[in-house]
Amino acid sequence: MTETRSTCPYCGVGCGVVIESTGDQITGMRGDPDHPANFGRLCTKGSTLHLTATAAITRQTRLLQPMQRLQRGQPPQPVAWDTALDLAAGKFAQVVRDHGPDAVAFYISGQLLTEDYYVFNKLAKGLIGTNNVDTNSRLCMSSAVAGYKRTLGADAPPACYDDLNHAQCLFIAGSNTAWAHPILFRRIEDARAANPRMKVIVVDPRRTDTAGTADLHLAIQPGTDVMLFNGMLHIMLLEGWTQRQYIHEHTNGFDELKATLRDCTPDRVAEVCGIGREELFTAARWFANSGATLSLYCQGLNQSSAGTDKNAALINLHLATAQIGQPGMGPFSLTGQPNAMGGREVGGMANLLSGHRDLANAAHRAEVAALWGVADVPSKPGKTAVDMFQAAADGEIKALWIACTNPAQSLPDQALVRRALERAELVIVQEAFSTTATCDYADLLLPATTWGEKIGTVTNSERRISRVRPAVAAPGETRHDWSIAVDFARRLEALMPARGAAASLFPYPDAESIWNEHRESTRGRDLDITGLSYAMLDEKGPQQWPLREGEATGQARLYADGVFPTADGRARFADTPYRGVAEPRDARYPFALTTGRLRDHWHGMSRTGTLGRLFGHVAEPAVQLHAQAMARLQLKDGDLVHLTSRRGSIMLPAQTSTEVAPTQAFVAMHWGEEYLSGVSTSGKRLGGINAVTNPAYCPVSKQPELKHTAVKILKA
Ligand code: SF4
Repeated sequence: MTETRSTCPYCGVGCGVVIESTGDQITGMRGDPDHPANFGRLCTKGSTLHLTATAAITRQTRLLQPMQRLQRGQPPQPVAWDTALDLAAGKFAQVVRDHGPDAVAFYISGQLLTEDYYVFNKLAKGLIGTNNVDTNSRLCMSSAVAGYKRTLGADAPPACYDDLNHAQCLFIAGSNTAWAHPILFRRIEDARAANPRMKVIVVDPRRTDTAGTADLHLAIQPGTDVMLFNGMLHIMLLEGWTQRQYIHEHTNGFDELKATLRDCTPDRVAEVCGIGREELFTAARWFANSGATLSLYCQGLNQSSAGTDKNAALINLHLATAQIGQPGMGPFSLTGQPNAMGGREVGGMANLLSGHRDLANAAHRAEVAALWGVADVPSKPGKTAVDMFQAAADGEIKALWIACTNPAQSLPDQALVRRALERAELVIVQEAFSTTATCDYADLLLPATTWGEKIGTVTNSERRISRVRPAVAAPGETRHDWSIAVDFARRLEALMPARGAAASLFPYPDAESIWNEHRESTRGRDLDITGLSYAMLDEKGPQQWPLREGEATGQARLYADGVFPTADGRARFADTPYRGVAEPRDARYPFALTTGRLRDHWHGMSRTGTLGRLFGHVAEPAVQLHAQAMARLQLKDGDLVHLTSRRGSIMLPAQTSTEVAPTQAFVAMHWGEEYLSGVSTSGKRLGGINAVTNPAYCPVSKQPELKHTAVKILKA
């Protein structure tokens, strides 16, 4: 039996695992006792990874050879790798020749490793000359990115997991940590046990398991977070609980914000948020006066049409109370996916460039072009997730490459997504699993390796880079994601003008050589990792960035000196006037639908859905409704209902829940069309909760408002 140290591929906690294998079989696993994210612990998802790996093979859900669909709607046929990649390169080159580089697009994933991400980004922006490369991280963390950059000057979470051990107050907003980041929640439980005086405030419209453990649960109306945070700051100002000297010495913009805060009186905030004045005062007092407040936040803030404002308004609270940069304090976004952080680091989004550079910055574009050895990086912003699929549906994007993600389930407004996939002239899906809904639309299916087989690195929520290592050989004809992208890129280089490059842009023999190039792109940047190497990660274990050349370790916390990565070194208060949700409830659509995770499933279930025991916690989809709503609709548990929005309708059982308010409804995000059938308003067959969700997005982060849709519910 062989033991291999690697990282869990599910969430952004980034737990270390030890994989046991014999030959080509993964036979067991356990938590890595030496990994600083989890110290040996694993949640239900992580601890069953070896079983899902085996189940995927035995249940034949893996994609093991390249396939070509000669006619849409027909089953795909096996094809040789060379044929598939020649065909892909030929078609991409033809589309670029006939319609320009912005007629092609790449939609990739926070599940990809940093090395995979780097190659895709360089392929699109360096070789082809389009910024049309975006990722499902747009659905996950783009509001957090925009919130950090707007206030602190860089996309860098300043806190770390160890801060739990020093905090006196935890402010958890829009996160069901107990289910979505279970091992982090175990650390919260440990910290509370060690420090019974610690206060925990949870802000969530639902009474989740996390909210149920709070000292104070603020069950706000959906989407009113900015009003709450502004109201707390209003009270802090009124009571003299802000840190005037810190504000004066280390920040800009507080006077402008004060004008907005003036209207956020306790009475108005209590009314808009649907909470009591006393609760509001208590939250403000605990936050400001605890001595060390640490905020943990996730999709409840991010997946919103005001996502950037929500993030920034919360960071405003930390700046105003000088609670940042020291042990136990600071804003700390919890990353949804395992490598949304790594993707951001290499600039794998439509508005970013390598090394936390900005596409909109001409000097940054020139730096990246010089690093890559190309004439330029185009300045035209690329299409972000929702807009990318809209452009494909409009016929503007003609060739779409999708890697390691399932937009035909996970993007909002599925009717639009399906139109896009049908209209595109070429859809390539690079996947480990053959069962995702998106595979049904692929002209070419390219089989990729997955957890237990892959090699590279990921970065978790606390800026910690961990190695991902293969325990078994790649099964069938699968190849690593970076290797597929490199092979395709080299073929494309032979067909397309070189854009100033003297030699191949993709000279990589292995994952490490890609990572080394990425490392060089971080030199002098906020995330500088020029002191790090694969060898150091192997020898010393996971490391946090920044870790500059000559340094022995990374930095646990950022901004301890009160100096921020802005032009003048000062943080910026963001002016955050309150805006309501994009689609408020009304007489026709009287329920506020929110979506979220279950404890034991991950995303579209392509991996967790292969294992029966992971259905033990929740066996089937249901819409959770308050008892009053059930009575009003004359429903009993298990009755089927039509849940309908302005975009589509799904049918599922109703279930009484004490977690939601009488005007709210909750449906888990994981169930695809095999579990949850639905239909669009035009009569097209769809499935999953995203048949009904709203594609409206935050104007800054472009992250869609998956947490709120106005719906009606009628007995079927
Ligand atoms: Fe994996 Fe997240 Fe569970 Fe850790 S908490 S074992 S990273 S799913």
